[in-house]
Amino acid sequence: MASSSGQKVVLITGCSSGIGLRIAVTLAKDEKKRYHVIATMRDLKKKDKLVDAAGDAYGKTLTLMPLDVCSDESVKQCISNVKDRHIDILINNAGVGLLGPVESISIEEMKRVFETNFFGVVRMIKEVMPDMKKRRSGHIVVMSSVMGLQGVVFNDVYTASKFAMEGFCESMAVQLMKFNIRLSMIEPGPVHTEFETKMMEDVAKMEYPGVDADTIRYFKDVYLPSSIDIFEAMGQTPEDIAKCTKKVIE
Ligand code: NDP
Repeated sequence: MASSSGQKVVLITGCSSGIGLRIAVTLAKDEKKRYHVIATMRDLKKKDKLVDAAGDAYGKTLTLMPLDVCSDESVKQCISNVKDRHIDILINNAGVGLLGPVESISIEEMKRVFETNFFGVVRMIKEVMPDMKKRRSGHIVVMSSVMGLQGVVFNDVYTASKFAMEGFCESMAVQLMKFNIRLSMIEPGPVHTEFETKMMEDVAKMEYPGVDADTIRYFKDVYLPSSIDIFEAMGQTPEDIAKCTKKVIE
């Protein structure tokens, strides 16, 4: 179902960079103007890259809103701000990575990943569901990962967060189907975004107390160089994922 303007209202999380930014711009620049994009980010000071890329679409088919998916209050505030317009499509894109031997990662860091990648999605779905159910219409898209399907060494916690989210969404899909609400998952392999850079910056600062020498050597000398090679050789662009997302919602 489209909004009164005839455009579908699409809310996207994590639009300050990477895949979210590119999905927002691709949909806002749709040649048939089928979408009104509410591009959200937790820090609106980071809006310039998105605004530049959106060009003329900014302020017309694309508007901005603050949203931190880790905050109950922020999620409630954002969804209540757009309630009158009704969200037709929710794209849960915001996510964080975490790489390294488990012994080097604190429980607090692990919780941050689950707060974003798992509970962030749960919060969003819980908040948009009542209106979608009432209208018996809607589409929820979740940016999972190939690591939501397959465990990958040294990505233990990230993989676990995406597996948890996949399980939640697969179960929810059955419930939502009865209300004509679709739930789709996108599972990209490596994509060239700031995601990889941010993880590598964290790895550069990593300490290895209590980690055995073999694991450290395997991580630093084997895993890291080969994962960089895989990214270089196989990495898709955010544009590839944005096009795929557009196909999924069409
Ligand atoms: P980026 O790091 O470029 O983008 C991640 C986005 O999520 C940023 O806008 C970031 O905002 C936002 N974000 C992080 N935490 C929060 C939060 N608490 N509330 C709101 N927004 C938040 O990475 P990608 O574009 O690559 O990642 C997008 C999605 O794609 C993620 O879910 C990721 O797991 C998934 N993915 C990525 C792959 C890759 O290889 N790049 C492969 C497979 C899946 P901020 O700028 O404020 O940090």
